[in-house]
Amino acid sequence: MATSSFTKKMLGLEVAEATAQPKTAAAPTTFLKKPKIAPSKSRKREIPEGLWTKCPKCSVMLYDKDLDENLKVCQHCNHHFRIGARERIHSLVETCSFEEMDAEMTSVDILKFAGVSSYSGKLQDNKRLTGLKDAVITGIGKIDTHRVGLGVMDFSFLGGSMGSVVGEKLARLIEAATDKGLPVIIISSSGGARMYEGMCSLMQMAKTCGALAYHAKHKLPFISVLTDPTTAGVMASFASVGDLIIAEPEAMIGFAGPRVIKDTTQSELPPGFQTAEFLLEHGLIDAIVHRKEMKERLAYYLGYLTESQKQIAALG
Ligand SMILES: [Zn+2]
Repeated sequence: MATSSFTKKMLGLEVAEATAQPKTAAAPTTFLKKPKIAPSKSRKREIPEGLWTKCPKCSVMLYDKDLDENLKVCQHCNHHFRIGARERIHSLVETCSFEEMDAEMTSVDILKFAGVSSYSGKLQDNKRLTGLKDAVITGIGKIDTHRVGLGVMDFSFLGGSMGSVVGEKLARLIEAATDKGLPVIIISSSGGARMYEGMCSLMQMAKTCGALAYHAKHKLPFISVLTDPTTAGVMASFASVGDLIIAEPEAMIGFAGPRVIKDTTQSELPPGFQTAEFLLEHGLIDAIVHRKEMKERLAYYLGYLTESQKQIAALG
């Protein structure tokens, strides 16, 4: 500061400074004029928030109320939007038949994980935004005439990631279903294991699969339903070991991302290789079922599987 004022004086720039004054005086006025709220306002006027949703596939504007009534499926192109766990349970089970389990179970920040924001902070935010305690809802309900153990994941809670609560709730659900002699249906929607819980989240892969192995020993069926997206630690554990594995149309299903696979295998990947349609063609999944037909089809499969189970039991 001192040196600059000294050199300015030495160079005789006081005059220049004086002439510069009007400029600096004019600058604040132009600066004050700057705030442009108009564009965002007009955009808001075009698309009122919370009323319309643009379909990412066919670009048609969909009225939210119609979309909700249609189970979040586009009426024009059948694009399946992501749906919350509660809405999905409501669409599948008989009215008032669902008894939720472990509804109050919440995650603990075991590792005291601190990144851009802390894990405990993220948990609080997600609980507030979603109204959920964690990324899965479990319970016993009735689909048509069949009592089932039903677990439904919700992608809106931390990307549907599987931490110790998701793993524990699913394991308890499977164990309860084993005790009661019930089939299990798990509807997955997940980005994988929850990195904020490190090793504890990875252990859930073995825990859920272990519980399912005991369930299978009792000759009870497990139907895995894969919805968009089902990836990584969830796809690599319980989601891919169903007696029947079904998926929603165009669901993204896979383990690692395409770039990682390409770099690891050093080979070109076929287009659309992580979609439900591709995996059906290659035998990884058994069927693709439209969301609006899901309840009917699950009831049909349950009838088929429990009937064959009764026949096996009768045979001894
Ligand atoms: Zn559409």
